[in-house]
Amino acid sequence: MPDTNLMQIPGHIDPVTVARDITPRADGRVDLIGLPRARIAELFGQAGLDTKAAKLRAKQVYHWLYHRGVTDFESMTDIAKPMRPWLAERFVIGRPEIVEAQVSTDGTRKWLLRTADGHDFEMVFIPDADRGTLCVSSQVGCTLNCRFCHTGTMRLVRNLTAGEIVGQVMLARDGLGEWPKGRMDFAFEDTDDAEPEAADQDGGGYSADGRLLTNIVMMGMGEPLYNFDNVRDALKLVMDGDGLALSKRRITLSTSGVVPMMARCGEEIGVNLAVSLHAVTKDVRDEIVPINRKFGIEDLLQACADYPGASNARRITFEYVMLKDKNDSDADARELVRLIKHYNLPAKVNLIPFNPWPGAPYECSTPDRIRRFSDIVFEAGISAPVRTPRGRDIDAACGQLKTAAERKSRAELERLYAEKEAALD
Ligand code: SAH
Ligand code: SF4
Repeated sequence: MPDTNLMQIPGHIDPVTVARDITPRADGRVDLIGLPRARIAELFGQAGLDTKAAKLRAKQVYHWLYHRGVTDFESMTDIAKPMRPWLAERFVIGRPEIVEAQVSTDGTRKWLLRTADGHDFEMVFIPDADRGTLCVSSQVGCTLNCRFCHTGTMRLVRNLTAGEIVGQVMLARDGLGEWPKGRMDFAFEDTDDAEPEAADQDGGGYSADGRLLTNIVMMGMGEPLYNFDNVRDALKLVMDGDGLALSKRRITLSTSGVVPMMARCGEEIGVNLAVSLHAVTKDVRDEIVPINRKFGIEDLLQACADYPGASNARRITFEYVMLKDKNDSDADARELVRLIKHYNLPAKVNLIPFNPWPGAPYECSTPDRIRRFSDIVFEAGISAPVRTPRGRDIDAACGQLKTAAERKSRAELERLYAEKEAALD
């Protein structure tokens, strides 16, 4: 069995530049999903193709994998017939395994997925009238321990690989039947006995029109900026015009505030940023978002002010979970406005009613309180809609994602939180 690489000790803060390589499957074959074109060409070269052939095959295979979503080499109709078994002997086209798929009464779907080495994680699809949003996980569990978040109560954590991250988007496209059909949109020099019918159909192009899956949010399990390299590599495949071809404007990454990685997120990924602020005073944020003890509110907001690409047209979203008598007073709302103005942030605020889970130490604010909070922020000229909870009946709402949902006692939770916090120091 491949190395499971479980992190018992949380707090993996700074990305270490280790050579990222592939772990072959038990049968020795290598999963191509998650690899960029150049790496695929390298592997084809190592497997015996000359440089020119390796490059051409990599270009063809890349297109089939990420743009067309095929899951077997036999379907790659412009690749010479004898070449296809050659590929299949050496490589696989992986997808995370689906353990369970649930549909909520409101149309929200949740998938319980499993990695090849047996770790479970979740993905959620939220259909709306004008868009469909896929909520993607970046880790199994989370090394952080925000007090209101069920994922934070998971002890074992493993980073998802780039393949497991992009694989979620690919699975959703499989499930929704949304791969483009039709012609390949580039010409090949070397088609041997390739079948011509692949080039005969129309409609190989991509557009967001009429699609179910239009947006991606990195808001599933885990802290994406603690798994920066894999998240970046996966999103590059998602954004590539010859890959999954989703615009960076339709992708949002949510962070609890890993300040040292925020600039790189803007520069190297360039997606929209959401920040889990949730509190405006040090005391309260230290309690509910403990990473605040390491990176405080001022540094966080300064990093937002400096975020590459933020503008009035591309605002930063501040997420704010509404917790009864904890962070929901008029004074909190006014301080939120003051901070946003002080740092001159192009901001919108997303108010999230707290979604309870068994044993959670908080309650959701009353609807009146949430409305009042929203009004104060709105009156200051900042958009502050209240997010409608979706998929609560299947535990798919924000912060409810947690596989193997065993209930921990308060004492066990406190012990776990103490361990995770110690690792933050
Ligand atoms: N780790 C990242 C992204 C995943 S969490 C982050 O923290 O930003 C996605 C959003 O759901 C975050 O804003 C998070 O704070 C919020 N959330 C977590 N638990 C919640 C709960 N029980 N109710 C409502 N929102 C919650
Ligand atoms: Fe981790 Fe985000 Fe949950 Fe905090 S809110 S524990 S950072 S997943």
